[in-house]
Amino acid sequence: MRIFTVACCAVLLGGTALAGGLRPEKMGDWTIVAAADAAPAERHAAEEFQALFRELTGLDLPMADKPLGRSKNIFIGPGAAAMAGRAGFDAAGMGEESLRIRITRKGITIAGGRPRGTLYGVYEFFERCCGVRFLTADHTHFPPKDELKPLKTQDFSHTPPFSFRWSYYKENSDRQDFAARMRVNTVVKDEKLGGSTRQTLIGHSYYRWISTEKYGKTHPEYFSLVDGERRCTAATAATEPCVTNPEVIDIITQGVLADLEANPDLENITVSQNDNDAYCRCPQCEAINQREGTPMGANLALVNAVAERVEKTHPNVKIGTLAYWYTRKAPKTIVPRKNVQIQLCSIECCELHAIDDPDCPKNRAFCGDMRAWKAVCDNVWVWNYNTNFSYYDLPFPNLQVIGPNLRFFRDNNARGVFMQANGNGNSGEFCDLRNYVLSRTLWDPSLDSGALVEEFCRLHYREAAPAILEYIRFIRDNALEKQCHPNCGAEPVELGLTPAVTRKAFDLFREALAAAKDDTVRARVEKASIPAYRAMLLVNGFPWKVEDGLCRRDLPPDYENLVPGYIALCKKYNMTMVSEQLPAADYFERLEKMEAMPALRLENGTWQLTILPEQNGKLIEMFHKPGGTFFLPAITRENVLQGALDETGVLGFASNAFSPFKAETRDNTVTLTRTLDDGSIVERTITLNGDAVEFTSRVTNHGPAPKMFQFRARPEFDAFTGSADADVLGVYIRGAAWEKFNREWKDNTGPDKDKMIAARGGGFAYFNREAKAGVRIDYDPECVKYPQLRWRPQYNQVNLEIFSRERELQPGESLEMNYTFRCLDAPPAG
Ligand SMILES: [Zn+2]
Ligand SMILES: [Zn+2]
Repeated sequence: MRIFTVACCAVLLGGTALAGGLRPEKMGDWTIVAAADAAPAERHAAEEFQALFRELTGLDLPMADKPLGRSKNIFIGPGAAAMAGRAGFDAAGMGEESLRIRITRKGITIAGGRPRGTLYGVYEFFERCCGVRFLTADHTHFPPKDELKPLKTQDFSHTPPFSFRWSYYKENSDRQDFAARMRVNTVVKDEKLGGSTRQTLIGHSYYRWISTEKYGKTHPEYFSLVDGERRCTAATAATEPCVTNPEVIDIITQGVLADLEANPDLENITVSQNDNDAYCRCPQCEAINQREGTPMGANLALVNAVAERVEKTHPNVKIGTLAYWYTRKAPKTIVPRKNVQIQLCSIECCELHAIDDPDCPKNRAFCGDMRAWKAVCDNVWVWNYNTNFSYYDLPFPNLQVIGPNLRFFRDNNARGVFMQANGNGNSGEFCDLRNYVLSRTLWDPSLDSGALVEEFCRLHYREAAPAILEYIRFIRDNALEKQCHPNCGAEPVELGLTPAVTRKAFDLFREALAAAKDDTVRARVEKASIPAYRAMLLVNGFPWKVEDGLCRRDLPPDYENLVPGYIALCKKYNMTMVSEQLPAADYFERLEKMEAMPALRLENGTWQLTILPEQNGKLIEMFHKPGGTFFLPAITRENVLQGALDETGVLGFASNAFSPFKAETRDNTVTLTRTLDDGSIVERTITLNGDAVEFTSRVTNHGPAPKMFQFRARPEFDAFTGSADADVLGVYIRGAAWEKFNREWKDNTGPDKDKMIAARGGGFAYFNREAKAGVRIDYDPECVKYPQLRWRPQYNQVNLEIFSRERELQPGESLEMNYTFRCLDAPPAG
């Protein structure tokens, strides 16, 4: 009983509402005090206080450079804090983003270290004490005036645990005033807004210090030894230096020192691998790497050596290096020097499960590496991935792990975090919501990111929030239930998106839109609905149809507006990139072209084929009439460009899904012709001959000079199973006899791969024993250089690719490749 009473008192003392005192709406006789010599960001902090307080209360408080009375002053900045008497404190010596907020009966003081502490303190005051929320650059939430709460006496301090915080959204970099309000300290240039940290993001950099252009010819030994050859002619970013070569260490050190001379403000600098895995395997490098159990061994030895030398003239500069991909694992004995920074990258991680979820195998491995670095380094930073780089505008079920991930990083010594997201495009999936949650939890990882998601939705989507929150939960629960482990480049199937799921997601957005009561909310919901459209476009279960020589989507009336609706919304909300690489405008053009594609049919008693001449002559349907089987099933799927036969140029010409061919049909043959820019001609024929489908491809050099050419045919056959079991789906190659080789196959390799490469019998086949169906490809081994299996069970797809020989053609000469498909009712034999 006594304990209960004490606890009650503590609560009251901790946050006393001042009886009749500090009600914001009654503070009209208060004054904002900023010292005459306040720094630009502190002056701006006082102006921001004035503007935000006006919006909150309707009161316009005057500004002065000295207190006008003994009480009723709001002191902003270190200079003002020094004038505040008993309400003040000494802010001199505070860290560059540390802040303190002191609320007493007589005065309020908000101040912090330079340059950003005071400004961030003002934003913290309005968030923490007044319920203001900076939701987007154009939407700041103020509580209704009749619901304002009294300001509680308190003395609050905060120093952000991460000194480098980057929520990588264009929504920040485009609006630096907003980035400052979100306390993102990496994109702001304006001194008035506090500027940015002088720490930089550690990225790939060896190519800057040592290039093959400069040293490749004279010093091949400076570059990595891979498969017995020095990578001294490769493009700069496709090679790595030999990191144990003393001259390489000298050159890199000189480069770093020169850079530091030119940029004396830098607090850290990158000395790090390029973005490839061609690290050096020379005896010296390998000796260290073998001993240390990771290619990070020799790399870190170089970084330490550079750091030791740089320290002599720049003792406060950190030398940063990526722990990324093959260098993610810490060495057994070599530890980073005290002036070395490790930038640990989580690119392999699963996005659905929290990074410290012990049941997620991908993440368990990462946590092991992070703990190992924590044990030997005080200066670990994290490069974390927060979007789907392959589809910026698909639903991405990772909102629930943002807070837990950042807490794990904080608890494992992370000093800075780069939350890489949709930073090179606008209006990606939930960009406003995500930026809000990322920025706030980066600033204060103790915040509950789930509660922030809910808060944002209720304040921003208002009456539409229930449907949107249900959508967010549904997308997440579905992926959890399907036991997905998507990484940051996930295909729709890896996110658990099936036709039933995308239709339900779409319907939830219809519900959200119907709930919106005014144009403002409607616009916000529309913008958020783009991913529901994209998901429906990619995964809907609706086939295509061929009518009057055109191939079109066959959508039910309820979804007829899908494509124009998606494009209109993206344009209205200025969505600029649909993936990290693909501009939205290019994607719209493709979608529009696909609305009505000229199509040809070729038919006999056994086969029905459909060809799209303008889509690179793709064969999108290969229907076997006797068995009722679609071997090339693209036409039956929502993505008519997948599950097709595509032929592309490997050498001599480029082709993509929209390279146009001219087409001519005669009897059982379609002839496709394309003239390349240099006049060379690609000619392909597809012929039905009884139970055989015969293909010939020929390119003739009509250009002025000799030129190398090579073809690739890529049939994406229906595997009739999502299983990766080679006893269900066998793939065979013909050597002296037919032989199965896809045991334990993964994507494009397996233990029997060599059988495939060595066989020269001119046959390649697959057969599904359960479906009792398959295809046999016969080809001339003289014109085919090699076959290649790419098996993607999750797509029910098995690609039996063949590559022609590569040949240099003199003007007038031709290169040809022929192959024939036949249906199988038993595994190939003989
Ligand atoms: Zn080496
Ligand atoms: Zn997982």
